[in-house]
Amino acid sequence: MTALSGLRAVVTGGASGIGLATARALAAQGATVAVLDLDPAGVPGPLLGLRADVGDDTSVRAAVEAAATHLGGIDILVNNAGIGAVGTVEDNPDEQWHRVLDVNVVGMVRTTRAALPHLRRSAHASVVNTCSIGATAGLPQRALYCASKGAVLSLTLAMAADHVREGIRVNCVNPGTADTPWVARLLDGADDPEAERAALNARQPLGRLVTADEVAAAIVYLASPAAASVTGTALAVDGGMQGLRLRPV
Ligand code: NAD
Repeated sequence: MTALSGLRAVVTGGASGIGLATARALAAQGATVAVLDLDPAGVPGPLLGLRADVGDDTSVRAAVEAAATHLGGIDILVNNAGIGAVGTVEDNPDEQWHRVLDVNVVGMVRTTRAALPHLRRSAHASVVNTCSIGATAGLPQRALYCASKGAVLSLTLAMAADHVREGIRVNCVNPGTADTPWVARLLDGADDPEAERAALNARQPLGRLVTADEVAAAIVYLASPAAASVTGTALAVDGGMQGLRLRPV
């Protein structure tokens, strides 16, 4: 027996980075796992890769139903899909605000709404949202991204309140800067990616970025029966950035 044996999990944005590490970690603990992603082509077995755009309600509903049918139900939903935006309020046009808030916030609403009928039938139901250090820290040049993650934090707390009596727990993780393809893409765009990476590492309390596996381990804990009394909480996996009150970037 492993911690999650017999449990069935859905992970959005699970084809890359934190989502892929989470899908693998859930499977390693005995869960059967479906990954919903815009691009599930590279999702390795035994994970089930399903195409879905969390920005599209019809797509989400179809993929969640397909996952529930394949897995025989859903116990764990990890709302992880998210996109970034760089800039101050002067830099991002309204369309970009609508798009990022739609994917990062309403995307989690859509997936949760579709999964709730299945979660209600589970004896170990939980939702874990991938939030960010940006929910509570003022990151420069990230106005839209921080606003979206602030909304994810509030949404997590409200959902936890709404569903606690149904036995459905809702928590979030707040990663610091994590070493994923997302961050690699940002660094690759710099004039000197190696110098930029060294400077980024130097700004971290631990002297290095958080790993995707470390965030995944926190998500696995929150999703596991071991966390049966944990709901409405945000677990920071940020190398101490917030707790130590250090400047995030
Ligand atoms: P990533 O870009 O490596 O992976 C994101 C995945 O989400 C990709 O597979 C992508 O195809 C998928 N995706 C994007 N839009 C989607 C959509 N509309 N529908 C379905 N899937 C979609 O990114 P990551 O760094 O692993 O980030 C994952 C989550 O972690 C995001 O919510 C991000 O905001 C959060 N986060 C990341 C960091 C970091 O430093 N990397 C820090 C804090 C929070």
